[in-house]
Amino acid sequence: MFKISFGKAEFSIDAWSIADLSSDRAGEKRRVAIIEIDVKGEKGKVKKPPMNIRKIIKVVLFLLILGFLAWCSSGVGTAFYSNELRVIKTIVLVDPAFAERANWQEAASRLINLAAAPLEKEAGIKFSLEEFAAFTFEAGATLEAVAAALDKQLVKEEETVVIGLVAATASKSPLFGFSLFSEGIAIVKVLENEALTVRALLHELAHLFGAVHVADPDSVLDLWNRGENLDRVNLALIRLFRERSFSSLRYPLSREKREEVRSLYQEIAASLRRLEREMRAKGDSSFRKAPNLADDVYLNLAHLELEERNYEAVLNCCQEALRLNSDAVEALNLMGIARRRQGAIDEAIAIYRKILERQPQEARVLYNLGIALAKQGKLKDALQAYEQALKIRPRMVEAMGNQADVLLRLGREKEAEDILMKALAINSRFALGYANLAEVYFRREENDRATEMVNRALALEPDLPEAHNMKGKILHRQGRVEEAMKEFSLALKFDPTQAKAAHNLGNCYLELNRLQEAKNYFELAQKLAPSLAEAYEGLGTCLLLMKDTAAAIFHLRRARELGLNSLGLQLNLSTALIYQQKWAEAAEAAQEALRLEPKSSLAWNNLGLLALQEKDWSQAEKYFRQALLYDSRNKQALANLAALLLALNRWAEAAATYEQLLKESPGEAISHNNLAVAYYHLKDYRQAWAHIQQALSLGLEVNREFMEAVKKQLKD
Ligand SMILES: [Zn+2]
Repeated sequence: MFKISFGKAEFSIDAWSIADLSSDRAGEKRRVAIIEIDVKGEKGKVKKPPMNIRKIIKVVLFLLILGFLAWCSSGVGTAFYSNELRVIKTIVLVDPAFAERANWQEAASRLINLAAAPLEKEAGIKFSLEEFAAFTFEAGATLEAVAAALDKQLVKEEETVVIGLVAATASKSPLFGFSLFSEGIAIVKVLENEALTVRALLHELAHLFGAVHVADPDSVLDLWNRGENLDRVNLALIRLFRERSFSSLRYPLSREKREEVRSLYQEIAASLRRLEREMRAKGDSSFRKAPNLADDVYLNLAHLELEERNYEAVLNCCQEALRLNSDAVEALNLMGIARRRQGAIDEAIAIYRKILERQPQEARVLYNLGIALAKQGKLKDALQAYEQALKIRPRMVEAMGNQADVLLRLGREKEAEDILMKALAINSRFALGYANLAEVYFRREENDRATEMVNRALALEPDLPEAHNMKGKILHRQGRVEEAMKEFSLALKFDPTQAKAAHNLGNCYLELNRLQEAKNYFELAQKLAPSLAEAYEGLGTCLLLMKDTAAAIFHLRRARELGLNSLGLQLNLSTALIYQQKWAEAAEAAQEALRLEPKSSLAWNNLGLLALQEKDWSQAEKYFRQALLYDSRNKQALANLAALLLALNRWAEAAATYEQLLKESPGEAISHNNLAVAYYHLKDYRQAWAHIQQALSLGLEVNREFMEAVKKQLKD
């Protein structure tokens, strides 16, 4: 007698089909791209030069002479600069006191043109005065309040600068000027002395182009207001910032120029530190009492380092700024952003709340708080923070963009769409708004509209990581995997912290069955976003396919703990658990999969395997047949059912099932072998012999005794 060789008829189980796992194809509801931006930098907080007017008047004669000499000597070195002019549309706003003057428009033009002359001559920046208007503000308002009011109310085109002139003597402001760097708004107090007003104007306009306070008796940016010219380092900065944008939605300077800007700022910071040390050594403590504060170089540097994602450097700069000016709210704000991006979200929230205690009307701090809360998963609180920010600044499109993102994560697509449309009506150049809108259409499977939106976003901002990620998702859905991978890679290149892009790349590699690369990207996504459940799911699936089932279980369980509950996850988890013979938990996961999708063929198959393990043959058969009811071509279920029937000596049914299975995958040597066994028992020796030959040709070692037995019957 011989033993039939279905020891080899392994019951087979398989991972959930990979294609359905890929992000944003299936289960995209939970895979919302977390699109976010930070208000980067120093809106509203820059340049606070309290100036002692008496002091200025005393030194003014001296300055006139010095200034003249400086003008003579500076001419030569700068003569051959300025090949092309950057012409900047400028709106001139004056207060009622100024508007009372005769020919006020000419008077305003004269002041601005005098102030801007060195910028045109030496840096190639020309202010084209295109609109004049009078504006009113609360009597006695400070210059900061005036600037803030303008920023909130003014509807201005991008790349337009606003210069405000305040002549009211009632203004209580101790400052001579104030500027909003990101928005391009400069407000200056008009003094009786025209030369002083012109100097104040030049000082503020220089700030708009990245200039910072220096210790240089000749410079108009001097800490003690001693000079009236543009010093060498600031002039170099202004030239680098000549092509800056005034969009307020992104850092105003291209990548290429940032490196040079950084070294210039570092040069200024080093010289200021040296001076402070020297003064202290001489027992002179007046450095920190200078009318212009020395903290602005650190704030500008922190702003730049934030853009470069050097968060430790951001924190160091902010500490320096706070040391020089404990009121530097912007330093706290930047620290909050850096700490949040480093993952210290609680600390970031504490910093924002501290600022808001002092300045509850800081819309951008509320906005940043919203980002941190959303990161913590406190979506309702985040929405509230954005709403508060928008109450203060109704035209803050960044807040609208993030609000829409949170709404998308809550599945409130229509509301998200409405808000984005509103934001884009306010600012048609809001690139991230288009990218977010693409997400809305993507979810509705309106691919053409999604593509159109994402292309608009990229036309406005070719480096926008979220737009590249979104474009990748659309291409991926269209089956254009290679192109999608290019987009995901770009997203990751422009923002190396984009966990979603890393995750999506992992999915693409998984789909191409390039498991090692897939694993690397899922690990990267995990590192970047330790609470991104999908990254654990992807890694777990990868490990399952690599047959490292113990590790697979670890990551898949973690994905479940993090709140993910998808069909693919439950199926893969139950499969991995079966491999590890953790039967009870495997059954639980399979049941959960069926709760999510009652027609899941793979889940029924896994239940069949679990019944087999309990030796409940009839239950197992029922489950396998259920699996085949929902997918008659499920190879695992076919193989398992056939093997079960064979074991139960139900030869005819077993043969029929193997025939079906071999139609699906003709190259299965073991199935040929087992089918031969079934035919042998059905006394169809010719068929049995034919399938033995097939099995042999596929490289399977067929039991010798069995072959002899069949051969003998054929001869008889
Ligand atoms: Zn200043």
